[in-house]
Amino acid sequence: MSTSETSVAPRLSPGFVDMHVHGGGGASFQSGAADDVTTAAAFHRRHGTTSLVASLVTAPVADLVTSVRRLAELATDGVVAGIHLEGPFPAGDFCGAHDPELLRDPDPESLDLLLGAGAGHIAMITLAPERAGGLDAVRRVVDAGSVAAIGHTAADYDTVGRAVEAGATVATHLFNGMPSLHHRTPGPVAALLEDERVVVELINDGIHLHPAMLRLPFAAAPGRTALVTDAISATGPGDGEVLLGELRVTVRDGQARLVDGGSLAGSVLTLDRAVRNAVAAGVPVLAALRAASTVPADALGIGDRAGRIRVGAPADPVVLDERLEVVDVLSASG
Ligand SMILES: [Zn+2]
Repeated sequence: MSTSETSVAPRLSPGFVDMHVHGGGGASFQSGAADDVTTAAAFHRRHGTTSLVASLVTAPVADLVTSVRRLAELATDGVVAGIHLEGPFPAGDFCGAHDPELLRDPDPESLDLLLGAGAGHIAMITLAPERAGGLDAVRRVVDAGSVAAIGHTAADYDTVGRAVEAGATVATHLFNGMPSLHHRTPGPVAALLEDERVVVELINDGIHLHPAMLRLPFAAAPGRTALVTDAISATGPGDGEVLLGELRVTVRDGQARLVDGGSLAGSVLTLDRAVRNAVAAGVPVLAALRAASTVPADALGIGDRAGRIRVGAPADPVVLDERLEVVDVLSASG
């Protein structure tokens, strides 16, 4: 058999695991409405994502509590693998598509309300550790059995290091929503890249990151780099205007930007395309597939039931053709 024949064989990958996604197929996770959640999850499933966490942007805590309660029921039913609160604890200077009016410090009362509403299904909370009570908040989140993620932050290198010491284990979309890497002020990027306890998320849509800044984490943090979509409801339907939380977003030419200010506002990416983009940028196929499956599954603590194919364990494998397009998505539940 020639090498060209070998290379066209279909590939079987563990089902993709998206640890940062807001919606898709015209529907958003934000309200927690069952129809919307099911629609968005089904859309991403067609693109190979068999486990995902529903990510919520900043909203009033009372609204988030309502959404979290609804999503927790859907997590119990297995529609989503958990809930990710990306807000309301970002830093004002790097809040991206989070309503600056609604940002707040991660005080114990808010955290307990949200964690309580999640009833064990809050998979991850993103916060800026420099906010008042930030390090205590990291400990509180981790003690509750959730992942503390560092993101949308202006924290310096040392503060991020202390947050990792306190138990933070994920970098929310590394590079985006934080100061850039600088040789005298290394900032969050260096602190998160160099610590072996941290998994770094990358939004690999060809817009959020230059291909070199995609290759850098794969080289510096092999086995700790996760591909995420940060996809919003417009993923699938395409160009037009949609809401992300309460903020208006325009989607044009594959870019989602706030109507006010023009900040990038999530993506219209799917994980299969993130994998293809990574391979096109020079990442080996196996590393790219792991970054979309095994690595995020382990980061979320669900590696026993997702992210791998092994004898005796449940699996939702994805069949990919030679161009890494999804051919079929199999299900553990039949
Ligand atoms: Zn996001």
